[in-house]
Amino acid sequence: MTLPLSKSEYMQARSCGAKLYYRRQGYPDNKSSNAYLRLLAHGGYMVDALARAKYPEGIAAPSGHDPIADAAHGRELLRAEHVTVFDATILHGGRIARADVLVKNGEAIDLIEVKSKGIDGAAHAQSLAKGGRGLLQNATKPGVAAKWREKLEDITYQTLVLERMLPGIVVRPFLMLVDASKRAKVDNVPSLFRVLTGGPNGERTYGARFIGEPELLDSLDLLTILDVSAEVALLRDEVDAAASAFESMLDEPFEADWRTIGADCRNCEFSAPNAAGESGFHHCWGDLADKNPHVLELTHAGQVKTLDGEPLVETLFAEGKASLFDVSIACLAKADMTWGPLGIRQRRQIEHTRSGTEWIGPTLRANIGRVEYPLYFIDFECSRLAMPYHVGMRPWGQVSFQWSCHTVAEPGAQPVHTEWLNADDVWPNRAFTVALRDAVGETGSVLIWSQYEISTLRETAEELPRFAALDPELHAWLKRLELRAVDMHKWAQNDYYHPGMKGRTSIKVVLDALWRSDAAMREQFKLWGGRDVPADADPYRALPAIEINGVMQDVHEGTGAMTAYQAMMYGVERDDPDGRNAWAHLLRQYCELDTLSMVLVFEYWRRATSAGN
Ligand code: SF4
Repeated sequence: MTLPLSKSEYMQARSCGAKLYYRRQGYPDNKSSNAYLRLLAHGGYMVDALARAKYPEGIAAPSGHDPIADAAHGRELLRAEHVTVFDATILHGGRIARADVLVKNGEAIDLIEVKSKGIDGAAHAQSLAKGGRGLLQNATKPGVAAKWREKLEDITYQTLVLERMLPGIVVRPFLMLVDASKRAKVDNVPSLFRVLTGGPNGERTYGARFIGEPELLDSLDLLTILDVSAEVALLRDEVDAAASAFESMLDEPFEADWRTIGADCRNCEFSAPNAAGESGFHHCWGDLADKNPHVLELTHAGQVKTLDGEPLVETLFAEGKASLFDVSIACLAKADMTWGPLGIRQRRQIEHTRSGTEWIGPTLRANIGRVEYPLYFIDFECSRLAMPYHVGMRPWGQVSFQWSCHTVAEPGAQPVHTEWLNADDVWPNRAFTVALRDAVGETGSVLIWSQYEISTLRETAEELPRFAALDPELHAWLKRLELRAVDMHKWAQNDYYHPGMKGRTSIKVVLDALWRSDAAMREQFKLWGGRDVPADADPYRALPAIEINGVMQDVHEGTGAMTAYQAMMYGVERDDPDGRNAWAHLLRQYCELDTLSMVLVFEYWRRATSAGN
């Protein structure tokens, strides 16, 4: 028997029909192992639990392994005149969904979909009050806003199923969202929830429960509920047609025209091999999957059109080509055949991948010559959570919990490391900034990798008056710091290329590309970092893991740092000094490596350009 099309299958198939096939066939899906998505899911479960807690009369629909039986239970519960049901399975024809909250009153049902995505609820209400369309629709032309389309298609799909399942009942669709215009009135909101986990090591999270006192709920005004009838009306025909098409594909043999071949295939979640050694990506691309170098490595490949104005990746694929070297250089120029900055970078990538040589731009030496010693290489670790940790914070507000700084006093000098890691259960951004000011002072260039550090400090400056006494001196210092900032990421984009970068420019990618080829860099790392990592290893991956409460843990990327901070401050190790110390150690060694990597890359560029500075 063909199982009905689930809402999540519908949503996945919207980006590419072939994904529906891979999902049903059990191909491995990278998204399930994506650490960042897992972290977001934690926040999502808390939002869900908070929403439910607002309906104390609600009853949970039974759910088991048989969706058809679940749907029968849901239908039974909805026979009551007045009832609120959580997680009811709704089914009609070949479509099925699970509804977060259904509030039935007589002949009307409020269908409420809870999402952890943030919206400025005040701005939305203001727009509607002035006769506008609100934030969920485009401001100037009819249609739903692109950033809300996915959520709105989700509720539209459910609305269609429920209306057909219960003819004669009026279904009113709502989105319940995290309201970024509101502020936490109590501290440590996440501690009011218990995250429910399963699996041998508790690695699988499947929900959360509100465990705070019911009286606290009035203080937890962090969500907003929006009537989305107008948006559903805009989408219903389109969603209905797409769902019908997907239904007809279920359990059918694979068809090539289900694929949406294009630049997005680079990030396809079905790229991991299955037990038979085949991935969805390989199935879609066939022999072209293993071309090396691949056209999907081209930086911003999705923006390139052929000379006929057709999308590049799709066109090459149709011609049976997928090598980076199949890209015609001419199509990287602008329509008037002049060269823009992106086209120049793409052309450089192809030319230097072909020659296997690095490229050092004519301005790199001068850029290095302009920096003023002492140099401060800085990197921040921050976290944004749907449920705020501190009174006064807004949902999805930023917590700046760690910085690392390597200071180089003069050209070629050994870098000196300083760092700061929050250990107190208070809004840490002010202490973070003050400690940074003490370390970085007033003179010398401050080297960053991307504008992230600057935007973090700007946000802190905006928030400071809400959390602390007005500190004009700190504000003024933040402004002066911006003027001292030098963005090495821009150099990696515009002044340098190494074939090992494969069109990417993160600090980890640049370090990795140079690490393999430059023995001097590895020697410097050994001298300054105190560890001997071979040429074929990744210094980030080589960071030692530590056993914490019986599980080997490591931190080698930003999401891992956020997860570690959460575990240290609010997890089971919160009251365990050894566990906290171990997490702190992992955080320190990771963040230190980020800024040491910046010094190593800077030193490489200084040597390569013979810049005296
Ligand atoms: S590789 Fe591309 S075409 Fe194939 S499933 Fe993934 S996104 Fe779709």
